[in-house]
Amino acid sequence: MSDELSLQTFTAPQRPLEPHLPFDAPEGGWTFPPTSVTLLAGEREAILIDTVPTLVDSKALADWVESTGKTLTTVFITHCHFDHYLGVATLLDRFPVTRVVATQATVRHIANERLSGAELSLYSAMFVDTLPSTVVVPEILGGDRLDLEGHDVVVVATGQSDHVDSSYVHLPELKAVIVGDIAYNDVHCALVNTDHEKRQEWISTLKEVQALRPEIVIAAHRRADAPDDSRALTDTIGYIEQADRLLNENPSAADFTKQMLTSHPTRLNASTVLFSAASLGLT
Ligand SMILES: [Zn+2]
Repeated sequence: MSDELSLQTFTAPQRPLEPHLPFDAPEGGWTFPPTSVTLLAGEREAILIDTVPTLVDSKALADWVESTGKTLTTVFITHCHFDHYLGVATLLDRFPVTRVVATQATVRHIANERLSGAELSLYSAMFVDTLPSTVVVPEILGGDRLDLEGHDVVVVATGQSDHVDSSYVHLPELKAVIVGDIAYNDVHCALVNTDHEKRQEWISTLKEVQALRPEIVIAAHRRADAPDDSRALTDTIGYIEQADRLLNENPSAADFTKQMLTSHPTRLNASTVLFSAASLGLT
């Protein structure tokens, strides 16, 4: 086993959107949240966890990986949302021998998306920037380990986050977890397509991660300068609990948005709250 094991993050900034929603744009306009990926690097090799959504950011990500001088052996995708897997094609252009893997459930969802094209056409119409047009379906990861110079890199298939069938990566050696969209770090959480039951299941997933007592927690949607620690888990639980309480009272879209924005003044991407309100049928 090599001695060296490090974690580095690359963050694609907020990107402008032009959605068709029945609400006024929030201050600063409609935006997609910042999206971070994590590179686990050994002495010579590296594994990337997730990718970024737009073409320009995918190319910048490939440049960044190249600049580390490590050989990218593997890309692991935490869950089936376009912003996490759509950059794969650009990375494979640059690093053709890299393996792309995900859990069985994630592979199934991405294969379905490649057939339907539903998410890609929805978001391609909404993004001002160009999105990659090729959906690459990962291979199913055999077992629950990623290979990085003998280090223990554990993949945990779990349940609900802002998507069903999420997964995360656990590095016991660093007391670190890379959690995809299970936790959001100082960015508004996407409650799109959730109901009371799913929000409770999401909280259970967060508690499952908390039980590992991680000291480093890297969320995919994070303020680039936010500390990557276990507060991301606690704060996400608090956010979902508050939203769930409010939603159980059938609020108007305006009341729900105002409450969430006022309670979380530092969280980035107010647009997410409005998207959540629209998808939950608030008016
Ligand atoms: Zn996401």
